[in-house]
Amino acid sequence: MITLSSFFHLLHLAGRIPLPTLKSSEPIKANQSSTGNKMQPTRRSMAAQKRRKSTAVAILNATDDIEDFSKSETLAIRSSLLRWYDENSRDLPWRTPAAGAGSLLTPVKVDEEQRAYVVWVSEVMLQQTRVPTVMGYFNRWMEKWPTIRDLSSASLEEVNEMWAGLGYYRRARFLLEGAKSIVDEGKFPRSASELLCVKGIGDYTAGAIASIAFNEVVPVVDGNVVRVITRLRAISANPKEAGTVKLIWKLTRQLVDPSRPGDFNQALMELGATLCSSTNPACSKCPVSDHCQAFLLSKKSQKLKVTDYPTKVAKNKQRHDFAAVSVVEIAEFDEQILNDNGLKHVFLLVKRPENGLLAGLWEFPSVIMDEGSMNQCMRRKEIDKYLKKSFKLDVGENCKVMLRQDVGEYVHVFSHIRLQMYVELLVLTLKEGLTQLNSDEDRSEITWKCVDGSSIRKMGLSSGVRKVYNMTQDFKEQRVFQKPRKVPRKRR
Ligand code: SF4
Repeated sequence: MITLSSFFHLLHLAGRIPLPTLKSSEPIKANQSSTGNKMQPTRRSMAAQKRRKSTAVAILNATDDIEDFSKSETLAIRSSLLRWYDENSRDLPWRTPAAGAGSLLTPVKVDEEQRAYVVWVSEVMLQQTRVPTVMGYFNRWMEKWPTIRDLSSASLEEVNEMWAGLGYYRRARFLLEGAKSIVDEGKFPRSASELLCVKGIGDYTAGAIASIAFNEVVPVVDGNVVRVITRLRAISANPKEAGTVKLIWKLTRQLVDPSRPGDFNQALMELGATLCSSTNPACSKCPVSDHCQAFLLSKKSQKLKVTDYPTKVAKNKQRHDFAAVSVVEIAEFDEQILNDNGLKHVFLLVKRPENGLLAGLWEFPSVIMDEGSMNQCMRRKEIDKYLKKSFKLDVGENCKVMLRQDVGEYVHVFSHIRLQMYVELLVLTLKEGLTQLNSDEDRSEITWKCVDGSSIRKMGLSSGVRKVYNMTQDFKEQRVFQKPRKVPRKRR
């Protein structure tokens, strides 16, 4: 069955109607005569304008006439999808039954609670990250913290290290905070509404845990489900708008199988992740193609493709930030070191604030600047100011510069920020050695540490900081190779 909005959408895509312009048979605008002279709107013209406006709204309001799934459609979709899932579901580590023993909060329903923990960790990791990337992280995580109780005793530092490279570090912090609060409470919340009270758990994660671990009949809507549902119902409205989001949740709720809610939700997500992909859907293999309006419409008109759903929405413009980054390497004499003039090298790392972007992670000293002042002179000036204010390091005064050179630029793209980093390597010796950094008590608001190269290689750093570190190491290696060799004097 084709809905009114998909009918208009089909006509629009087929070039039959512009969407939603006024009819050409009504050339006179309300405040303009046929000769182009301005005139006052008449009652009639105003009424006509009102009518036209409401027609346009009716066409544009593409969620209004989307019908619920009928009883027979619902039953057919459930059984086809579950049958397909039983035969085709991917073998993923978080789908294996929970190990359980000795790991749970309460002696009853132990396996369910362990399963809830496993689902929770995997679903949080899978947000914004693809399955192949998540697999390694998930296995390492479970090896280190096999139960929620183990996780609750971890530190944020450890969790961040484990998460390094996955991005969106707030997710890791919320997992840790959530685990601590659940263990404190003494029981794992079992329903979606109770789960929503745990910090960091939203509608999606609550639905996934409640349905997969505790068999609650609740829907789960992620990007894959949005794609499948908008195609099944040929919804052409903006999928990000509140009304459309509400509609998609409502339609998904209608479909959830009451006898196997967790499997059904996973099946719907699996369909979106595999056959019903965004650019190349395999409709001929799809178990629910008979009920897919986008597919049926695409067979009626060559101008309409299933990939027209969900409607593409222009992304918000990214902010463009610029940062001067200084990899400060401090060389200190160490009598146990026999090579490199007896110098031991350590790197100065600063901890980011506990809130905001990359919260609580370590990075090299950096300063955000205006694009217009990103020349070398201004960058050095700003970095020097920062080091003086934060560490009482007065470059050239109480510390000697052994090497200061630009290493290159690197652009790191976050979801909403494009950060362009100008990286320098600054090798210093401190007049009073490393104790100079420890002597100032005013620096209590900054958390920092000095670590050597081998520790830095093992640390969990964000991918941007890791890249910056690697850039400086490559730069040093190139310098070694480029150093002019001493030509041995010829013997006479
Ligand atoms: S028929 Fe095609 S577009 Fe429709 S749900 Fe199946 S794979 Fe997706």
